Amino acid sequence: MPEAMVSAPAQVDVAVVGAGPAGLMLACELGLRKVRTVVLERDPAPPGHCRGFNLNARSLELLDRRGLADRFLAEGPTVPSTVFVGAAQLDLAAMRTGHPYVLGIAQTRVAEILAERAVELGVRILRGHRLAGLRQDDGGVCAEVDSPDGRTLLRPGRLVGCDGGRSTVRKLAGIGFPGTPADRFTLLGDVVLADPQAIAFGVTAGANGTVFAVPRPGYVRLITNDPQPPDDRDEPVTLPGFQDVLDRALGRHVEIAEARWLTRFGNAARLAERLRDGRVLLAGDAAHIHPPAGAIGVNAAIDDAMNLGWKLALVVRGQAPESLLDTYHAERHAAGARLLRNTRAQMLVAAEGERLAPVRELLAELARAQETAGYLAEEITGVGTRYPVQYGSGHPWEGRMVPDVPLERGSLLALLARTAGGALLVDGSTGTDALREAAEPWADRVTVVAAQPAGLPDAVAVLVRPDGHAAWAGTPSAPLDTNVQQVHGALQHWFGPPTVVL
Ligand SMILES: Cc1cc2nc3c(=O)[nH]c(=O)nc-3n(C[C@H](O)[C@H](O)[C@H](O)COP(=O)(O)OP(=O)(O)OC[C@H]3O[C@@H](n4cnc5c(N)ncnc54)[C@H](O)[C@@H]3O)c2cc1C
Repeated sequence: MPEAMVSAPAQVDVAVVGAGPAGLMLACELGLRKVRTVVLERDPAPPGHCRGFNLNARSLELLDRRGLADRFLAEGPTVPSTVFVGAAQLDLAAMRTGHPYVLGIAQTRVAEILAERAVELGVRILRGHRLAGLRQDDGGVCAEVDSPDGRTLLRPGRLVGCDGGRSTVRKLAGIGFPGTPADRFTLLGDVVLADPQAIAFGVTAGANGTVFAVPRPGYVRLITNDPQPPDDRDEPVTLPGFQDVLDRALGRHVEIAEARWLTRFGNAARLAERLRDGRVLLAGDAAHIHPPAGAIGVNAAIDDAMNLGWKLALVVRGQAPESLLDTYHAERHAAGARLLRNTRAQMLVAAEGERLAPVRELLAELARAQETAGYLAEEITGVGTRYPVQYGSGHPWEGRMVPDVPLERGSLLALLARTAGGALLVDGSTGTDALREAAEPWADRVTVVAAQPAGLPDAVAVLVRPDGHAAWAGTPSAPLDTNVQQVHGALQHWFGPPTVVL
């Protein structure tokens, strides 16, 4: 990975702590907008193991809005369904999205691609740099960083904790992490079996438990319940210990020839009480941890970063007020609460035995039914994410991700990828000149473009945020004055005050 191993630059606008998916995606978003960004990563090298193996439709939609989805789609197969409550295949084709599937891609590869992109955009990634101390004042943040050269001080304007579930940033900022502790533990082993045919891929019901086996290049991932986790849950999982649990679950001996990675994880669910404390913010696992149902953590991390990046850039560049950052908390804290609810619900229903079998059956039916599969899939993948709007007209697109609207020249996705800014799409009908004029003072942040006729169903204009969500949509039935007032209010709210040309 081409990472700059240089000493910390003197002038840093934003320090991002952690080079996981959240930190690297955020670094890309900030670098794209020329915000001077440094990523501090504790580990000297990327991990030798891989946790996640997927990107979902929501991540691909977001990456599409930066022109990046194809880089990821080239890396692996897509699958049109996903396991739901352990009992059903949920049809992803029922979702309203340009990517109605899940992409098989290693989390390590996701991080590599994002790191390459961040470096291309001028971000410095400092490996072997651990954040050890933190305080903030009116002028910025004072970060104590342990590196191979000893302890150094860094003074960025802002600092974002993307440093995982045990976030040092969250603890140092004094942000609470309420939720439910883990009461079930799972063992995961990336292993090479002496006889590769000894266990079938998929779920095997053994004499005393079930084992889930997933093929991976050169090895197999085995997942099984940990019936007797030690008092210290962080105690390393040993090969003899894992072998013993595996054999007990199956009721027979399946010889492990080599263990590449053995770990234990729980079903804790916690959400940071706030995602912002002054100049310090949280994203990804630092902000929320959840049971592993639905394989969503990497995707939620990318989602947080895409929401925060453009807002933080506008504030750092002095174009928008601090209050814009409060919308990050409002939107992604609510999204985090839904993430916890959805993953906990799936886990509870999947893990419970006979007692909840009828609930599983019912949910499996809903996952198959045309009328409900789309709703469930959009809910658990985040495709259905709808942010609250200010100055809204009630148009159904408001708050939602705008689909790829054909423009008179090009398309919305291409425009967002090129500018990484906002866009006001107008349909050219009578009176829309007034909307164009209303947006002129924001020309440095919002591009006004004409949509193709019929490109904007039941709307004369749509204001699109840099993350692709509709901030406002003007309806043909509304008086022109109302539309102008609404778009003015929405522009001011999402993009800061207008530029005054003297
Ligand atoms: C076994 C397992 C399987 C999973 N499978 C999936 C899956 O299939 N799909 C999915 O979407 N999600 C999956 N997840 C969840 C996913 O791995 C996480 O949600 C995701 O990694 C979160 O990204 P992040 O960037 O927030 O944090 P992380 O990826 O944890 O990155 C945090 C980074 O911060 C660094 N760091 C920590 N402290 C400091 C410090 N003080 N200073 C500097 N750096 C620091 C760490 O070294 C790390 O690199 C899985 C998780 C586990 C445990």
